[in-house]
Amino acid sequence: MCGVAGVFGIEGASSHVASILFAIQHRGQESCGAVARDARGRMHGHKGMGLVKQVLNEDVQARLSGSTSIGHVRYPTAGCSDELNSQPHIIELDHGPIMAIASNGDLINYGELRQRLEGDGVVFKSDNDAELIGRIIALYHVRDGLSMEEAIARTQRELKGAFSTVVMYRDLLYAFRDPHGFRPLVMGHIPRTGSGEPTSEGTVFASESCGLGIIGARLLREVKPGEILRLEAGKPVVSVSHAPLEPKHCVFELIYFSRPDSQEFGETVYQTRERIGACLAAKDDHLPNGEDLVVMPVPDSSNFIALGYAKAKEAEFGMGLLRNHYVGRTFIKPTQASRDEGVKQKFNPLPDFFPGKRVVLIDDSIVRGTSLKKIVSMVRGAGAKEIHLRIGSPKVIGPCYYGIDTPTRDELIANRMTGEEIRAYLGADSLEWLEVGDFEGLLPGRRKDFCTACFDLDYIYPPEGFAEKTNVPSARAEEAIP
Ligand code: AMP
Repeated sequence: MCGVAGVFGIEGASSHVASILFAIQHRGQESCGAVARDARGRMHGHKGMGLVKQVLNEDVQARLSGSTSIGHVRYPTAGCSDELNSQPHIIELDHGPIMAIASNGDLINYGELRQRLEGDGVVFKSDNDAELIGRIIALYHVRDGLSMEEAIARTQRELKGAFSTVVMYRDLLYAFRDPHGFRPLVMGHIPRTGSGEPTSEGTVFASESCGLGIIGARLLREVKPGEILRLEAGKPVVSVSHAPLEPKHCVFELIYFSRPDSQEFGETVYQTRERIGACLAAKDDHLPNGEDLVVMPVPDSSNFIALGYAKAKEAEFGMGLLRNHYVGRTFIKPTQASRDEGVKQKFNPLPDFFPGKRVVLIDDSIVRGTSLKKIVSMVRGAGAKEIHLRIGSPKVIGPCYYGIDTPTRDELIANRMTGEEIRAYLGADSLEWLEVGDFEGLLPGRRKDFCTACFDLDYIYPPEGFAEKTNVPSARAEEAIP
């Protein structure tokens, strides 16, 4: 998973980009970067491994002067984990840089397209989808003489998979999204003083709307699936073209990945999570309420699901686990031992909270089963009388090919054990998941607009013939769960 940002027509654009990226840091913590266009029309970029506050610090922002800028935070799902794969990419041709590009999402026809381009003599610097997108656009524009818009539109038609993309080209900024709208991308506006016709100036793009408030921008709308937008100084934002296909928004963005204060795919994330909690509670009428019952999230990703559950059940809500926010992502650590250790460092039970309690412990998902195995044993050790696990998503049974980091099919615990075996393995008294059918009620009238392939294998691009994902960290398949 990754996040993108774009700012047009505001002096110090790179500082705004850095602020947006900071707000969407949860989408990628491995590397980040920004490119800006200075008053003389030259592009300057900076990227590096690490977090936004360190990599895009104030000195860097001061060097990246200009009123147009794009940026990116990366969480590797495809390609190696190194600086070359960090974004944005500046695409250079023989006569110099032509454009800068940043994108969120994975392409399923990356290999095929790269082979074709290499056959045409194109040289790649990274294994990254965004560089490929940029090089195809550059080829159509420079070699084939298409206008930039035509080149983007032709590329958009040829790419299969997820891409929410921003491109800086000359004094223009483009934003476009794949025709299924897998990943979010929103447009906002920074209100300007004075009157006059609204123009592109002050327009911003962010993977999530939580990136807008931090720079004083207000949400205008989403970039539509299959849409290409062009921003030009002094002109209104132009929707150059709009060629959508069947919508396939990633439901896991709503369940887990996006920040609860974001609005995307026409939904408000925290409200969807509360509805998920209420849905889980409705199935639990056999679990009696009482003074000893406490509903508790695995913080922070499950807070709103647990809140929704507690509200619906009129049960006590408690934060019995503290999370250390300085521990990085345990999920992508390369070995089972390092993931186990990471979970131990990440959570700590409150003293004197658990004895005598029946705990409804809510998590957003079970993937390999690493976190909950450790957490259940921690909560049991802290004195809980009973532990009832409730999971805010259906069983994860398939990898995501559209930009979310998921282990191989064999590593997914739900493919290795029955529900009862998982409960016993995790050490819980009971275990219930959301079911795929529940999405009908959770997304009324919109169920078919969402991709749920990781839960029901209903892939819009059938994965037969794809190589099983060999994501970074490459060593992560090396040790199997239990
Ligand atoms: P696991 O411990 O392997 O069962 O993974 C489930 C936990 O990791 C849940 O608590 C989620 O919050 C988190 N999680 C699920 N999917 C992802 C993902 N693609 N990237 C990072 N964390 C995830």
